[in-house]
Amino acid sequence: MTTTNAATSLATENREGQPALDYDAIVIGAGFAGLALIHYLREAGISVRVFDRASDIGGTWTWNRYPGAATDSESYYYCLTFSPELLQEWSWSKRYPGREETQAYMRFVADKCDMWPHIQFNTEIVAAEYLESRGCWQVTTGEGDVYTCKYFISGMGMISEPMIPNIPGMDRFQGPIFHSLRWPHEGLDYAGKKVGIIGAGATTVQMLPVVAETAGSVTVFQRTPNYVLPAMQKDMTPEWEKEIKDNYPAIVAKCRNHVFGMAFDSPVGRNVMDTPPEERQRIFEENWTGSFRWVFETFDDLLASPEANRMAGDFIAAKMRERINDPALADLLTPSFDDYPLFAKRPPLDHGYFEAFNRDNVHLVDIKKHEPLVEITETGVRTTRNDYEFDIIVLATGFKAYTGALEAFPIRGEGGQTLREKWQAQSSSIMGVCVAGFPNMFVVTGPQAPFANLPTSIEQNAIWISRCVTKMEREGFDIFEPREEAEREWTAATANIHGQTLMAEGDKVNSWMMGANRDDKGARVLIYFGGANVYYDALDQSAAEGFPELEFKKLP
Ligand code: NAP
Repeated sequence: MTTTNAATSLATENREGQPALDYDAIVIGAGFAGLALIHYLREAGISVRVFDRASDIGGTWTWNRYPGAATDSESYYYCLTFSPELLQEWSWSKRYPGREETQAYMRFVADKCDMWPHIQFNTEIVAAEYLESRGCWQVTTGEGDVYTCKYFISGMGMISEPMIPNIPGMDRFQGPIFHSLRWPHEGLDYAGKKVGIIGAGATTVQMLPVVAETAGSVTVFQRTPNYVLPAMQKDMTPEWEKEIKDNYPAIVAKCRNHVFGMAFDSPVGRNVMDTPPEERQRIFEENWTGSFRWVFETFDDLLASPEANRMAGDFIAAKMRERINDPALADLLTPSFDDYPLFAKRPPLDHGYFEAFNRDNVHLVDIKKHEPLVEITETGVRTTRNDYEFDIIVLATGFKAYTGALEAFPIRGEGGQTLREKWQAQSSSIMGVCVAGFPNMFVVTGPQAPFANLPTSIEQNAIWISRCVTKMEREGFDIFEPREEAEREWTAATANIHGQTLMAEGDKVNSWMMGANRDDKGARVLIYFGGANVYYDALDQSAAEGFPELEFKKLP
């Protein structure tokens, strides 16, 4: 593989009479997106520089160091697929690898593909600006260094900017208090300590069972209960690994052609609403084998028909209740369709969450109905009924999904407008990869892209981006301008589909999938729910048709 890293490649050679640029492409983020972009942009023949404020590759898997952090996608398709050798050479130890193993895999990719020279760590980008007269971008680091590039690309991730809640008194607490994303890198000794966790989403569902094993006590402050699916972790066996490796091309194709980018066997060709109750129950039971598979490999109408969704939700709730000893606690931990439909919030996968609540040292505080949270004090958390003392408080309060990282520092496009300003009322884009008013800028899995198995979506985005770059360079263009009308069309289509799904009810329950968890913005359409496979087809069609969503220009 080539390791083009200096600005000696196609893109800069084409810019006659222009000041030299430092790099052809600057990417922020050395997670899966950064690695995929290094691969595909090198193939396109341009120089790539990746900046990351972390000290290692991994993105999500560098930052989320809370105990129990693991993938919710199954390992063997939570990976990059551009190299058959990589797929064959890496061995996963489990169905869902932990944080360290996933990060080790990413280091393996970087080693094998000689990607490290492209990446500059410990470098935070604090500003990015499109320079209209030069048709290029200028990025500024926290240290004040300035770099120019032709293509500016966000690989910052769609769930990477924490949502720090606005709870009075947070600065008063005397012990460690931090967002789950900021779990101390040096580790934290919580053995025998009193730990308070605010929030009960996917992060807490993973964290609680591990922390509860050695903490003195753990108290979870829950506002909204979740439909929790069992992970059903299992070790990789030689037989299973062989089966996977013998079938990788088919597995990769399955992901590419699946509505959520997963290697699932769906659609299954049957609906709950056409199935007699006993048969339905049998299918629900027989497929109760862990992961999100259950939602997709039982029936095709669980996310479309309210009645089917209610039945699926009831089934999950009943399974949850079976594992909770105290019926009053079970009432608090289980949602119902009357609260919100299954998938209006993203269901967590659990590795012993409910068993943890059966322990004497684990407590749940319902801060929605019974005792709302009032403030954080010097010693803990005060609700309307009680004072709780803690040594450590973890804010597992989620993320400013899809747009948060892009709004966290000024990214200025044409006329100096920032993405934050542009997205005040509506977070519009073209297929989540381009934004009108921001020429020569790409976003990997930006707003209005699907929510899917992320490596699949990331790779599809990187392929589209590299095809666009290839066209630009081969045909000698300096600038692409995303067309306003293409953005309007994609935004309208995305909103139209969204409005027809049960996910649209996410605004009732603060779902991050609609940005409804943010207190600085209104709920909005953030996700394309027309099917990741349909979306990948749209990307391919766009590239095949010469990117009609973009206007290509040469500098005068
Ligand atoms: P989340 O699902 O958004 O959950 C945040 C929790 O904090 C919710 O229980 C929320 O309550 C609560 N909360 C927020 N603000 C609060 C406040 N001011 N006071 C009290 N409670 C508050 O966040 P997350 O658990 O970090 O997960 C986010 C997403 O990250 C997941 O859905 C998933 O996509 C991803 N994730 C993935 C993995 C994985 O794949 N392995 C693991 C973890 C996370 P309400 O529900 O009432 O708003």
